Amino acid sequence: MEENCVFCKIVRGEIPATKVFENEHVIAIRDINPKARVHILVIPKKHIRSINQLTAEDTPLLGEVFSAIRRVAEQEGIAESGYSTLINTGHDGGQTVFHIHFHILGGEKMPW
Ligand code: 5GP
Ligand code: ZN
Repeated sequence: MEENCVFCKIVRGEIPATKVFENEHVIAIRDINPKARVHILVIPKKHIRSINQLTAEDTPLLGEVFSAIRRVAEQEGIAESGYSTLINTGHDGGQTVFHIHFHILGGEKMPW
């Protein structure tokens, strides 16, 4: 846990967020500035800055993340219509929050 990390604060309940799923390992919240009709962030509870800081011990956690993505997509009714799963890393990747997170974008056709 990082004291001043916005997603750690959401995990700790110090900043409100619209949670759509939570278990021991991850939370899923609605993005505060949605870029698609459905825009959800799946966030591991463990503070990991980005893909660059993942280690072998995080491999099971990544399985949990993809289970949560599948589950949230079902719950939001976009599993069949489809969605984009996006991870931004570092400056050139457009990462703005340095706590790893997985965007789920759907509910409409993505422009790419
Ligand atoms: P990144 O650009 O780092 O991949 O994405 C960060 C995302 O987090 C952005 O889409 C931004 O709108 C979202 N975000 C930033 N702060 C908050 C917050 O306090 N609450 C929620 N729900 N989303 C946030
Ligand atoms: Zn954090």
